[in-house]
Amino acid sequence: MQRERVVIIGSGPAGLTAAIYTARAQLGTVVITGKLLGGQIATTHEVENFPGFPNGTTGPELVENMKQQAERFGAKFVYDSVTSVDFTKGSPFLVKTDNEEYLADAVIVTIGANPRTLDIPGEKEFTGRGVSYCATCDGFFFRGKDIIVVGGGDSALQEGIFLTKFARSVNIVHRRSELRASAALQTRAFANPKIRFTWDTVVEAVKGNENGVVTAATLRNVKTNEVYDTPVDGVFIFIGYDPNSAVFGDQLETDATGYVKIDHLHHTSVEGVFAAGEIHDSIFRQAITAAGDGCKAALSAINWLGVREPILQKLDESEPATARA
Ligand code: NAP
Repeated sequence: MQRERVVIIGSGPAGLTAAIYTARAQLGTVVITGKLLGGQIATTHEVENFPGFPNGTTGPELVENMKQQAERFGAKFVYDSVTSVDFTKGSPFLVKTDNEEYLADAVIVTIGANPRTLDIPGEKEFTGRGVSYCATCDGFFFRGKDIIVVGGGDSALQEGIFLTKFARSVNIVHRRSELRASAALQTRAFANPKIRFTWDTVVEAVKGNENGVVTAATLRNVKTNEVYDTPVDGVFIFIGYDPNSAVFGDQLETDATGYVKIDHLHHTSVEGVFAAGEIHDSIFRQAITAAGDGCKAALSAINWLGVREPILQKLDESEPATARA
């Protein structure tokens, strides 16, 4: 069993930023990365709105830079997934992964959220063979092909625009006639000659041939109830995300949809366990807001561990924190 000052669960912008702060405060820090270093942003091709990159950057580059920055201060990265935790006895907390057990004085939970599935016939069967949740990962395989993108939010439009680099056509199928995506993305999508929209329509099934390759999708117009098959080579699904809080069971208080509840200092319902990023944020969900959250959670953890953070001293005077030496 390894004993650590801080264990960070998750390696998206929230976890990586938290690691920069706790490691720089000279607290032994282990980041348990989960299946994918960087989380969702690592699968985002173009990142245009993270400050400091006037010409934009890519998700993988941003992640790698943040990781190197945390490592420079001594943070250790473990490519492993958390299987269970014991937060019931207070600090030190037990964190079990596939390969190791950790005892952590403080834990920062930044485990993010996972893409939602449509749960329609053919979706599971053809995942990885025409059904995808990651344009950066799979777009290359659809050169010259016709694809459907499901959703009407920022992800659907951003990834749909990216997919036009490869695909012959991108049909964005949205269940309403109004998009949720930002005006900037809408303008870009409407101006893209490879993109068309199918409004008020849901995908009811994904179909394939005897080789296990997607050939068509069954669509239904929700206004007219017309059901028809349309030939496609791929179906990319971007309909939002669900928080990965199941691994904590009922040990952390969550809202009805599974987002971990925190106070304004990023304390969870368990003293010594902090949360940051999409595991608690169902609204902003930006790399930069996750990074800012990671910073705040780390500063609170540092303060709670008794390493005085001057910026939080004022707070301590009005609201004494329990410090752990
Ligand atoms: P989202 O904003 O929740 O949008 C999900 C979309 O999928 C909505 O249009 C929704 O339709 C649709 N949808 C949900 N369930 C569906 C179902 N069962 N069948 C068909 N359609 C369904 O999710 P997101 O686009 O992934 O964005 C998540 C967050 O990340 C947002 O806050 C977004 O701003 C942010 N984000 C930002 C950027 C950027 O800044 N460049 C890029 C990506 C994501 P309705 O509209 O009818 O509800």
